[in-house]
Amino acid sequence: MAADRTPVLALDIGGTKLAAGVVDAEGETLSFLVRPSRTELGADGVLEDLFALGREAVEESGVAWREIDDIGIGCGGPLDAERGVLLAPPHLPGWHDVPVMALTQQEFERPVVLENDATAAAAGEHRWGAGAGVRHLVYLTLSTGVGGGVIVDGTLFRGASGNGGELGHVTVDWHGRPCKGCGRRGCLEAYVSGTSIAERAQEAGLPFSSAEALAAAARAGDAGAVALWRETVDALACGLISIANLFEPELVVLGGGVTRSGDLLLDPVRRAVREGAMRPVGEDVDVVLSAFGERVGVIGAAAIVFERAAPRNVQAND
Ligand SMILES: [Zn+2]
Repeated sequence: MAADRTPVLALDIGGTKLAAGVVDAEGETLSFLVRPSRTELGADGVLEDLFALGREAVEESGVAWREIDDIGIGCGGPLDAERGVLLAPPHLPGWHDVPVMALTQQEFERPVVLENDATAAAAGEHRWGAGAGVRHLVYLTLSTGVGGGVIVDGTLFRGASGNGGELGHVTVDWHGRPCKGCGRRGCLEAYVSGTSIAERAQEAGLPFSSAEALAAAARAGDAGAVALWRETVDALACGLISIANLFEPELVVLGGGVTRSGDLLLDPVRRAVREGAMRPVGEDVDVVLSAFGERVGVIGAAAIVFERAAPRNVQAND
């Protein structure tokens, strides 16, 4: 793979949004475009949209196609990262064994890597973002679903086929809410994903159709919203404390749409994790927001290309 210096085209396939951008070796986004995912079109239609968006992103970046050697793609799992196949991602209904890597290679005639989107985001934060210089990092995205990525001792943890670190399916209540992502009960995702927060508000009879609306009402002091927000914070802290005890990270980075609630989420969660994790884990861990906001998917997908070409182990480089 040639790309250790040249910019890459990075693509992010989400259940709600597609994103594309050209990212250089310093993690700068030279272009960044977002479109709604028209999942009703099925895999062929969505990929057609994605490829068109990718071409636009290259055009807008001002980088010539001949300077782009590689393409990185991030997508929610389960997937086979080695073969570049999406197996059956719950956020993309009807997608079964879609060979995204081969189709993208065919379209753009360049090498392509595919990685779980949250794993990719962890790599991006570690390489260029909130976790630069950190050796032990956990990334958690609170989005349509909840995804996770882990850096252990400076190295990206991927599992046997790229599906490790599914932190959204850590159990916080084994008799709890059904989890649409995996079919079990009481997963973190069933409480703190954007979708689950909206559902819980609805079930509680509260008139908020999104996490953003709930957070705004909680901030304004609406009693029902405050109570439901507190429960959301408790569920997130419960999951994160287990995760912190498991990995002893120096840093937990939170990303995804739900984190637009900012300090309303971050401050109580940080406090709870520091208090709740076992000594000395809790004393040393910090919890921060993603450095890249909505660009994290694209930057992460680019980081994977650079990571595979030249793995960055902070310990070795320092
Ligand atoms: Zn689950």
